[in-house]
Formats: sequence, C-alpha cells, structure tokens
Amino acid sequence: MPGPRARVLVLNSALGPLDYRVPQGMHVEPGSIVVCPLGPRQLAGVVWEPDRLPAEEVGDNRLRNLVAVSDAPPIPAPLRRLVEWTADYYLAPPAAVLAMALRTSAAFEGPPTIVEYRATGSVPERMTTQREQALERIGDRQGLVRELATIAGVSDGVIRGLVKAGAIEAVTVETDTPYPRPDPQFAPPDLSSEQSDVASILRQAVGAADFQPFLLDGVTGSGKTEVYFEAVAAALAAGKQTLVLLPEIALTEPFLTRFERRFGCAPVAWHSDLRQSQRRRAWRAIASGEALVTVGARSALFLPYADLGLIVVDEAHETSFKQEDGVHYHARDVAVMRGLFEKCPIVLATATPAIEMRRQVELGRYEELKLPGRYGAAELPHIEAIDLIEEPPERGRWLAPRLVKGMAATLERGEQVLLFLNRRGYAPLTLCRHCGHRFQCPNCTAWMVEHRLTGRLACHHCGHNTPTPKLCPECKSEDTLVACGPGVERIADEVRDLFPDKRTAIVTSDTLWSPAKAAEFVRRMEAREIDIVVGTQLVTKGYHFPNLTLVGVVDADLGLDGGDLRASERTFQQIMQVSGRAGRGEKPGTVLIQTHQPSAQVMRALVTGDGEAFYAAETEARREASAPPFGRYAAIVVSSEDRAAAEETARMLGRSAPQLDEMMVFGPAPAPLAMLRGRHRFRLLVHAKRTFDVQDVIRTWLDGVGRNAKVRVTVDVDPYSFL
Ligand code: ADP
Ligand code: ZN
Ligand code: ZN
Repeated sequence: MPGPRARVLVLNSALGPLDYRVPQGMHVEPGSIVVCPLGPRQLAGVVWEPDRLPAEEVGDNRLRNLVAVSDAPPIPAPLRRLVEWTADYYLAPPAAVLAMALRTSAAFEGPPTIVEYRATGSVPERMTTQREQALERIGDRQGLVRELATIAGVSDGVIRGLVKAGAIEAVTVETDTPYPRPDPQFAPPDLSSEQSDVASILRQAVGAADFQPFLLDGVTGSGKTEVYFEAVAAALAAGKQTLVLLPEIALTEPFLTRFERRFGCAPVAWHSDLRQSQRRRAWRAIASGEALVTVGARSALFLPYADLGLIVVDEAHETSFKQEDGVHYHARDVAVMRGLFEKCPIVLATATPAIEMRRQVELGRYEELKLPGRYGAAELPHIEAIDLIEEPPERGRWLAPRLVKGMAATLERGEQVLLFLNRRGYAPLTLCRHCGHRFQCPNCTAWMVEHRLTGRLACHHCGHNTPTPKLCPECKSEDTLVACGPGVERIADEVRDLFPDKRTAIVTSDTLWSPAKAAEFVRRMEAREIDIVVGTQLVTKGYHFPNLTLVGVVDADLGLDGGDLRASERTFQQIMQVSGRAGRGEKPGTVLIQTHQPSAQVMRALVTGDGEAFYAAETEARREASAPPFGRYAAIVVSSEDRAAAEETARMLGRSAPQLDEMMVFGPAPAPLAMLRGRHRFRLLVHAKRTFDVQDVIRTWLDGVGRNAKVRVTVDVDPYSFL
C-alpha cells in the first residue's frame, strides 16, 4: 500500500510544486514544514493544498518519501493565502515569497542553546592591527564567530586566534527563553479628547476582530503613535498578536524605547541586524503566538504569526516599503491584504498620506481618522522659502545668508539645528579640472561619489569603491580633481567653518549603520552634545527632539529632477516630514527651504501650508494621465552582462507585445540606469486601465517568449522607481 501523498512547495524558485509520499508514522497537514529529497540533495518546503497549487501528475511508483517534518507549528492558512496572492499579483514564484516566511533555520531544527562569543576585556599578548581593529569594532557585541568576523571586517581565523589568546570567550545562550509580556495597563497616557475619539474607534475595531483598514492621518507630533498604542493595548488585552511595520530599521531603536515606556518592556524586534540566536528565538515565539508585539521592517510582514489581531504600518507613505529586489512587492499594500486574510484591522499611520491611500479613502475602502493638531502646547513650525536666485550663498558655499543668520540666532539661544540634504558623501561628482575626466562607476551608469571621511570614491548603486586618487587617471596631472556639488560631508565642513565652536554631527546610513549607533545618536542629541545635525532622509522621521527648533532644507529641488511620476509628491512628503522635526516641544519651530523654484506648486504648498490644494492638483494631473491610482503601470526590465543578448530579448518581447485596447506597451528602450552592477538593462513599460488584469496578460506574454539563459527578465508591478 503506498502511503498518502503530499504536495509540497519547495524552497527553490526555479521549481514548481512537487508531490511526495508521506512515510508511515509521519503526520503532515497543509502548512507543515518538511524536508524533501531532490536528486541527491535535501530541500525545505511547506505542504500545500493540492487544489491551490497545480502540479504535474506523478505516478505512485515514482514518488519519493518525505525526509522529515519540523516540530515548528505549520504555516497558518491566512499566510498561505497571502503567499499565493503575493506571488500572483507581483508575478513572482510562490517559492520566492514563501522563502520570506522561513528566513531562518529556526523553522527546522531546535537546539535549545547556541554558543556565542564576546570580548573578555583582556588584551592579547601579541597585538596586531587586525586584532586591534576586531576588538575595537566588536566592542560589547556578542555573536557567532562568523557574525563577529563580519562586524569586525576580519576573517574567522582572526576571531578564533583571539579566542585562543583569551581576548574573546565563549558563552552559551538559551535560544528559547520566553519574552516578557507587555502590560497594556503599564503607563496609559491621558489622551486629549480628539485622540481619545480616534483611540476608541481603533479599540473597537480590534475587539470586532474583522478586516478593517484605517488611514490614521495626523500632522507630525499629533500623537499618532500614542493613539495606535491604544489599539495595541486592546490587542494585548485580548491576547492577540500585533505587527508594527516601520519603513527602516534605523527607526526601530527609538520605537523600542517608547514602547517600553508605555508597556513596561520592549516588543520583539525583527530586522536584518539580528544575530542568528535572536532571529531563531524571535521566529519561534512569533510562530507559537508567544511574541505578542513584533516591530520590524518590511521583512517582518511575511512571518508566520499564530494569531494576528492588529497590523500597524507607521509612516505608511514611505517609498522604502517598496522592495526593489527579489520579489518586487509593496509592503503597505501586502500588509492590507494580510489584514484581509487574517481578519484583523490594519492602521496606516502618516502625516502625508500618499495619493494612492487618499484614493482608497475616497472610494470608501479605507476609513480616515484625523488628528489635525499637534499635541499639547507644540505648534506646527513656521515655513519660509529662500529663493536661491535672489539670495544666493557666497561663492563656493551652499548655505544662503538668511539660513546662516537663522542658524546663528538658534544656536545663540542654545537650541539645535537640523540641516537636511538627501545626499551622502562629500560631492556627487568629481572631475579633473585639467582634462575634464569624470569618475564613473565601471559597473553602473552612475558617477562615483566622493567620501572624504573614508578617503574613497564610491558608487551608491553597486557599492564599488576605490581610494580617491592623487593623480587624474586620464591626464596624470596632480591635484586637479574638483568636487562638484554638495553632499552632507561638504555641508558639515561649511558649518564647522561658520560655527567653529559648535558641535556638528553627520547622520546618514554611513554613520548610523546599526541600532546601537542610532541609540547613541539619540542619547547625544537629548544630552545636547550635538548642536547641528547634517543628515539625509534618515533623520527626517520618527525622532522627537524638543530642543530642535530650526530645520534648513539645503536643496529642496533635488528630488524634483528626473521626471519621476511621484517626484512632486515625494518632495512634499519629505519636506513636511523633516519640517515635523522642528519645534516639537514648547519652543516654536522654523523651517527654511532653499530652492531655485519658489513658485513651483509644491514649494508654494509647503510655505502656505495648503497641502489640500497641492494634493488636489496632483490628483487631477494623475487622473488626466491615467497614472496611478487611476491607471496602472508595470515595468519589465531585461538585463544581462551581455548587452546584445539583453537587447535581443527586449526586442523580441517588444515585437510580441499583446495588442489590446486596455493596455499599451512602451519600449523597449535602454533603461535610464542603462547599466547596473555590470548588467546592461532595457525596459518595457506597460500602462493599463486600473481594472484590467494586467498580470494575467503579462504572464502569458512572457511565457510565450523563449529565454536566453544569460538574460534575466524581471517584472515590477506598480513600480515606484522608474530607473
Ligand atoms: P506622531 O506620531 O503623530 O508624530 P507622537 O505620538 O510622536 O506623534 O506624539 C508627539 C509627542 O507628543 C510625543 O512626545 C508624545 O509622547 C507626546 N504626546 C502625544 N500625545 C500625548 C498624550 N496624550 N499625553 C502625553 N504625551 C503625548
Ligand atoms: Zn585629467
Ligand atoms: Zn556602480
């Protein structure tokens, strides 16, 4: 008698679902995590309902036995439905989506302890520069040998040598210790009456335990976090899990502190900086239902929550919720679908809702909850534009006199200043004054960006970098390289020049690359050890510094170039967001915006505070162009290291494009980033009606065109980047 069959979605994107035999004595059900044989290898997979994942029929005699089943809880049905939906909507292999739910070995084996390593504080007898570097970078961190080696930027051997020398020791870590339970009654705030009304609607929705999407639209500092914490409290009281998604991990740290103040202990954090032991522990607790509140970036969305009662997407307008590699999904949109499958409310919190979100409110699909004023005495900042043509900075400088004056007055009062420029490094372009040579990335259509702090030229697309040369590589002249345009490092130089006795900090992903660094920055700001922050978009969100009263936007026009569909909207959101950092305490705030286009609609909207007029005009323009949310796009990018092969496939796709009334295909054309990470890129853009099932047509179309093995075709449904 052959045993029963199981259909398994194996974790290999190149394969479809496969059938296996369940050996005697093994019990599996849909969702079970299993190990299956594949040729000579073994692969992980998840048992699936056969009618939901068609596969090729295989005779009983050819079935192989499953190897093992994990003791972890099965992947719950709502998550299985989400995997199917995501794969279908974003034209991704279901296995690639499933892999995001199983991104840890915790799903498979269960050692109760792991051996980690940490510094002992003793100095090894034989000190080398590598050992010194390693010990310095490791500090008080703990992890596997490999993890420490990565942190330290040295080989595993160096770490092992330090263990032998007694400078690093082994420690045994329990991986399955329980997390503390947040207490909904720990420190509830006194809500204002406005806040209280919104909170009670959210509490009710959590109690109703049904799908309900909310747009929580409140100006910066209105208490959105405080209010959605009440919904979290309701979920806690009901014993249900909550997921809070943040746009980037840098925001996790301040969130943890704040959460702890309200609920008595930190929530479970999920992000890419976790050690293996932490990841294991978190995954297990999430899957068992023991982790009641999880906060994380995008990747926390696909975890196997046992019993989700609430989802919150904070800063929900952020474009960093859009994943641009692997499965190209938008975490905000997928989060709403997860709410639907899990039957729970979802709160999208933002001060500047995206046009797509506003449209859902108009259509009656999202309920809008408003918090129009800042909490307590805090007022919204006063915003002015500085016309860079009328009031230019001095030669070779980037800060206009009025901004410098504003900074001086603010610093004089003992208050803090934030200068915002969304550009890392010293200068975006370096060229030779003598021959005009420009430094370009060998792998990308992009200029190399000078970083003076590290003395290197770096490509911000692929990471390629080289020491900044002394000689021009073209004409060999010495000291002829000039920096063109400013990055944050250059602005910081100018600030130090202007205010030599003030303390300046640069805040970018180069300086704030870990949660610990972020915590350190917050501490120094709160202790007023920093007077002036020069930062990228990393400092525009989440932080609450009551003594920060002046925000200067160094180049408000930066985001407007490039002809991106959402350029104006994004500029508006970003500047509103950074403005939100000014005057959050009792002292009023001021925002000075440097621009060459003070009469552009977006600048006028920022200065007058009339966001509604701006959104109305933007929405109209989108409607006229049938752009999202009224129409839809999908980008098809054909890439290869072999340019001719990529072009050939792109042409073939272009020739075989379906001819339909509901859909237009533009291209192929070389992508604006014609080369990226050594691959040549061609793009086709599909523009369709909103209601049209564009995925289905694209699937059939792409399946019908033969593939060259050297060519990769990626589809980006609802693209945010048009590069
Ligand atoms: P948002 O998330 O809308 O920017 P926050 O929730 O961060 O606003 O609130 C801004 C500041 O006001 C925070 O320091 C917060 O603790 C404080 N705050 C807001 N509402 C209250 C309240 N009801 N009681 C005490 N403090 C509050
Ligand atoms: Zn030269
Ligand atoms: Zn590059």
